Parts: sequence; structure tokens; C-alpha cells
Amino acid sequence: MTSRPIDTSRPHSARMYDYYLGGKDSYPVDEEAAKRVISMVPEIRTVARANRSFMHRASLLLAQRGISQFLDIGTGIPTPPNLHQVVQGVNPSAKVVYVDNDPVVLRHAEALLRSTKEGQTRYVEADVRDPKEIIQGAKEILDFNEPIALSLVALLHFVPDEDNPDSIVNELLESIAPGSYIVLSHVTGDFDPAGWKKAVDLYRQSGVPAQVRSRREVSRFFTGLDLVEPGVQVVTQWHPDSDEVLSGDQVSLYVGVAQKT
Ligand code: SAH
Repeated sequence: MTSRPIDTSRPHSARMYDYYLGGKDSYPVDEEAAKRVISMVPEIRTVARANRSFMHRASLLLAQRGISQFLDIGTGIPTPPNLHQVVQGVNPSAKVVYVDNDPVVLRHAEALLRSTKEGQTRYVEADVRDPKEIIQGAKEILDFNEPIALSLVALLHFVPDEDNPDSIVNELLESIAPGSYIVLSHVTGDFDPAGWKKAVDLYRQSGVPAQVRSRREVSRFFTGLDLVEPGVQVVTQWHPDSDEVLSGDQVSLYVGVAQKT
């Protein structure tokens, strides 16, 4: 695997997210930007943790429904439990392909590649804006004639409208078999428009493309799919469990899981 060099002169979304989660894999430039975002939207740290917990709940649910292949785009810096640890706990033969465009994630990929011996994991360094490259890389271990769970968790708010996220999602959905699922989470400005506008501006000024979306805009990504109950909801309302770190119905993250029929 070759990789672009790590640019430590500008903040990066994966390293800022790691900082919100309390991880240690950020550089001073990321910490400074992350602290400024926290001052604008103090809930972001708990939103990040609630997002991670949603990824666990959704992946677990799909593994329990018999899905054994997972394509996780925008994986992030490894934070245990990682997706393969969750799903291989249900089905040791599960296969997981991780994709991210941040060279820092690649550097930690070894932690993502510690599969069970019955299962398999792979890491593909690619950009979601190039679905063909992702599909080609994923086909090394996934069978696209069988259902796949496609996760775009906390990713699409880094794909602004000018990069055509709808057509990216459509191309990915077209490549996977009926019976497949999509798992998606997305930051929204619905409950604190002023705070999130400042945060988005800061990301953009730092060179990170970003866009928050309304409930209607997030729901559009699920067009033509069968939403798993309870539909597109704020993260706290989607299959909450006792570990949930937030409560209430005005949390700035919409989530949903849906099946392609
Ligand atoms: N899915 C993980 C991490 C979310 S942070 C979780 O929910 O816990 C968002 C991740 O998306 C970061 O790791 C960032 O590097 C990655 N990312 C951002 N833009 C991307 C793009 N255009 N293509 C691929 N990955 C991207």
C-alpha cells in the first residue's frame, strides 16, 4: 500500500474526530482547530461518541440479521471496538473492507487488519468521490453478488453538494446486490444553525470540505430504499441502549439504516 505524505500543516477531519473522541492521534494543528470547533458547538464531543456508538449498534444489528460482508467508507483512525471486532463477535467469518483517504488512517491500518482467522479484513486507501476505485478494491475480498452492508458513517458531511454526494451514493448502491444495507450518519445544523455554520466555516477555511444537512436532505440519501425502523432519526432515538451518552431529541446527528430490495 502506498500513501500520500501526512500533511501536519493543516488540520484534518479524521484527526480532529480522534481528538473529539479523546484519542491521541492528532497533531497540534488538529487540536487547535478541534478546540475552536468545541467552543462553537460544545456538543460535538458527545456527538462524536454517540456517532461511534451508533456505528456499533447498527453493525451489530446487521450482523445479527445475517449480513457477513461490510464495506466501511470513511473508517477513521482505529478506535476499539472497530467494526470488524463488532461483527466478527457475532460471525467470526465476517469480511470487512475499510476505506479512508487520510494517510494517517493508513498508518494505523494494521490495527484494522487483525481479523479473526475465519474472517478477513482489507484496507483500501481511496476517496469516496471515486466509487469505482473503491468497488474494485473491495471486490478483492467481497462478493458483490451477495448482500453487503455499506457504511457511510459520519462521512457525507465531508462531501459538499458540489461533489455530487447523491450520485456517489447511487453509484455505490447500484453496485451492491438486493438485500444489501446502507448505514449512514450525518451532522445537522437543524438544532443549532448559528453554531454549526461557524464550525463548517472553520473546517472550510482549514481546507476541509464540509456541509451540514437538514433532516430532509439526509433522508434523500435513502430514496428508493426500505428504511429499518425507526427511520431517519436523531442518533439518540435510533435503537438506544444503556451506553448511550446523550439523551433528548435535539442532537445534531441524524442516522438511518435502510435495505436495498
Ligand atoms: N466512520 C468513522 C469515522 C468518521 S470521521 C466513525 O464514524 O467513527 C470521518 C472519516 O472520513 C475520516 O477518517 C476522514 O479521513 C474520512 N474522509 C473524509 N473525507 C473523505 C473522502 N472524501 N473519502 C474518503 N474518506 C474521507
